[in-house]
Amino acid sequence: MEGPRVTTSEGPLGVDEVIGETSSTEVIDRDHAKVAGAIYRYTDIAFARGEGVYLYDFEGRRYLDFVAGIATMNVGHCHPAVVEAITDQARTLIHAASHVGYMKPYVELLEAVLAVAPGELRNGKGLLMNSGSEAVETAIKLARYVTNRSVIMAFMDGFHGRSMGALSLTASDALYRHRLAGLFAGVCHVPYPYCYRCPLQHESPETCGLACLNLVQKALETVVPPDDLAGIVVEPIAGEGGYIVPPPGFLQGLREICGRHGALLIADEVQTGLGRTGQMFGMEHWDVVPDVMCLAKPLGGGLPLGAVLARSELVDAWPPAAQGSTFGGNPVACRAGLATLKVVQNEDLLSNAERVGEHIQARFREAQQELPIIGDVRGKGLMVAVELTDMDGSPARDAIKSLVKQMGGKGLALTKCGASSVRIAPPLIITEEQADFGVDVILEVLRQNQW
Ligand code: PMP
Repeated sequence: MEGPRVTTSEGPLGVDEVIGETSSTEVIDRDHAKVAGAIYRYTDIAFARGEGVYLYDFEGRRYLDFVAGIATMNVGHCHPAVVEAITDQARTLIHAASHVGYMKPYVELLEAVLAVAPGELRNGKGLLMNSGSEAVETAIKLARYVTNRSVIMAFMDGFHGRSMGALSLTASDALYRHRLAGLFAGVCHVPYPYCYRCPLQHESPETCGLACLNLVQKALETVVPPDDLAGIVVEPIAGEGGYIVPPPGFLQGLREICGRHGALLIADEVQTGLGRTGQMFGMEHWDVVPDVMCLAKPLGGGLPLGAVLARSELVDAWPPAAQGSTFGGNPVACRAGLATLKVVQNEDLLSNAERVGEHIQARFREAQQELPIIGDVRGKGLMVAVELTDMDGSPARDAIKSLVKQMGGKGLALTKCGASSVRIAPPLIITEEQADFGVDVILEVLRQNQW
C-alpha cells in the first residue's frame, strides 16, 4: 500500500517508540486469522497512532482522517485536554459502578450535556449507557414504560444500532436483518424523506406537499392505532442511510403529530449530536425539541459512552431499577467526554464545522458541473455526503466500492454511507486547507476512473 511517508513525528511520542517492530501487514494477517469476518473493514489501514486530524500506520504513513472513527473523534485524535482528563481520572478512580454508589464525573457529564440541550430538555434528566445501541434501547424502554403503549414508529433508511431491540428499528440496509426475522413486535416503518431518490417518486420537496409526512398520518389511520403509539424514533439527518437531510417541515410535522397523539418524539442524535452538524444538536436546525434524545459516539471522547436525555417528568415516572448498566457512565469515559465538550465549546468548533462543511460542499458542487457521476451533494456542517450516481440514475455501487478502497493508498481514511455516497465526517477541528487535501484526492480518483 502506497501512502505519503512521514519521517518525523510532531507528537509527544515518536512513531518508532509507539510501533516498535510491528508491521501493518503483520497486524492485518493476525487479525484475519482470529477476528470474525463479520467485522467489515472499509480500508486496509492498520492504525498505529493518531494525532489531530491524522492517523498513522505502523510504517509511519500518514492518513487524513475523513471519518473520525465514524463521527466519533470530534476534537481529533489524542487531544491533549482529553488525554490529560483520561490519565488524571485513571489515576483517581477507574470504575465503581453507578448501581453501587455515586460517581462525580457521571453527574458532571450529564449536567454539562443537559446545560446545552434544547428547550425543555435543558431542565430534564438523563442516564448513561455504553453505546448508541444501548441508548436507543433505553429510549424505547422508557417510552414504552411511561406511555404504557407498545408501538414505536421508525423510518426506512434509519440506523439505530445492531443489538436486537435497536435493530428492530434499524432499516438502512436489509443485510443487517438477514436471517433475524422476528425482531421485537410493535415496530412500524415508514419511508424517510430521501428527496434525491424520493420513495414516492415526487419531483421535488417544494411540490410534494410533504407526502412522507402524509404517510405517517396514513399509518396512524391504517396500521397503528394512535393510542397505541409510544413514540416516533427519528434521526434528524439519516446517518448510515446516506446523510439524508429531510426537507423543511418534516421534523416539525413529526413534532406536531407526536404532540397531537400523546406519543414521544425520540431524536436519535447518536451521530448528529454534540456539534457534528454545526449546531450542538441536529434537531436545532429545524427548531424542533424532542421529548427524548439519544447520544453516543462523540459523547465519550473516543471511549464507550451513551446517554438518554428526557423531560424530567418522563424520567421521574421510571421507577428505581427499571434500567441500569454495569459500565454505563464509567468515570474515565465521562471525563473524556467532559473534556471533549469543553474543547468543542471553547474552540468554537460549531462555527468551524459549519464553515469547513460549506467549503467542502461548495467544492463538490463545483466539480459536479464536470463530473456527472456526482449525483447529489448534501449535508450539514461536517456531515457531508457526495452521492455517486450511474448514467442510468441508479446508485453507483461499483464506483463507491472502488473509490473507498483506493483512498488508503492515497493518504485518506474514508468510508461510505447509504448505497453509494462518499461519507465525509472529519474531526471538527479540521481546517479548510486540510479538508482540501481530502477533496482533491477524491476528485482526482473520480476524474481518473471510468466505471
Ligand atoms: N444510532 C445512530 C444514528 C448511529 O449512527 C449509530 C451507529 N452508527 C447507532 C445508533 C448505534 O451506535 P453504536 O454503534 O454505538 O451502538
